Amino acid sequence: MRHGAGPGGPASLAVFGSTNMDLVATVPTAPALGETVTGREFRTVPGGKGANQAVAAARAGSAVHMIGAVGEDEFAARLRATLGEAGVSTDGLRTAPGFHSGTAHITVDGKGANSIIVIPGANGTLKGIGAGDEDRIAHSDALLLQLETPMEGVVAAALAAHARGVRTVLTPAPTQPLPPELLAATDLLVPNEHEAADLSGRADPYEAAVALLDLVPEVVVTLGARGSVYAARGAEPLTVPAFPVRAVDTTAAGDTFVGALCTAYAEGRPMPEAMAWASAASALAVQRPGASSSMPERAEITAYAE
Ligand code: ADP
Repeated sequence: MRHGAGPGGPASLAVFGSTNMDLVATVPTAPALGETVTGREFRTVPGGKGANQAVAAARAGSAVHMIGAVGEDEFAARLRATLGEAGVSTDGLRTAPGFHSGTAHITVDGKGANSIIVIPGANGTLKGIGAGDEDRIAHSDALLLQLETPMEGVVAAALAAHARGVRTVLTPAPTQPLPPELLAATDLLVPNEHEAADLSGRADPYEAAVALLDLVPEVVVTLGARGSVYAARGAEPLTVPAFPVRAVDTTAAGDTFVGALCTAYAEGRPMPEAMAWASAASALAVQRPGASSSMPERAEITAYAE
């Protein structure tokens, strides 16, 4: 990657991944099997880890290309608009004929516990990269990947980036086995502590971060309110604290962190500094309700980080 692309132009990032509409029902008590309950509230919230990372990175100041798919339905326009309003280019967001957009059907009960059904829809068609995507990737400083779309597409995108010397950043969520060809093409792995434990078999996040260096050259493990850990081959792991804040909604905290982290790193800032800036971005986001709507703008992040 062109780390240290230099002062001047913004970082240029490509995101390959999911775009979902979250359909959120708030109920006093979740229905048992066969039961019907009356809920309190219904909201539609644009999401998907791919789209969330794209919005986070664009708000943080990167020029972002989203590579993904929406369906032929009423959600597609709003999903495109949400990305567009954040300044994300949607030229690489295709419409999958005959498919619905990806949806997440979320039930939140009175105690805040949730149950979720995800229907991939158009996201399930992302089994490779399309016309124009190689260029979008080749002209980027980094490619951001997650695992909410079919693995073969994630691998194809990672290989395209790797072959062109474009840095690849993988958020391994939802956790699943990582094929060797994906690991070989991954420069930076950014799991949360649960994903890091699953992937490494180590409960301790520091040990997990170091163990994951057997698979990839650099790892950042996010620890929620306890901050994040950075490990790189040949260096001592280091911890960057989170900002002490009162969190009201931690939805997409990790995606906010990744979008800001990659923006700062692609601008040439050292990783610990990029992590601190990303911590500021996610601390701002968790103090407000919402997913991508709660993600801060660059100026706000910078002011808060100082
Ligand atoms: P994920 O959303 O993927 O589970 P984390 O919960 O680890 O990710 O959060 C990612 C980052 O967001 C953390 O490293 C931290 O900087 C910030 N963050 C998350 N929760 C809080 C919190 N309660 N207070 C302050 N910062 C937080």
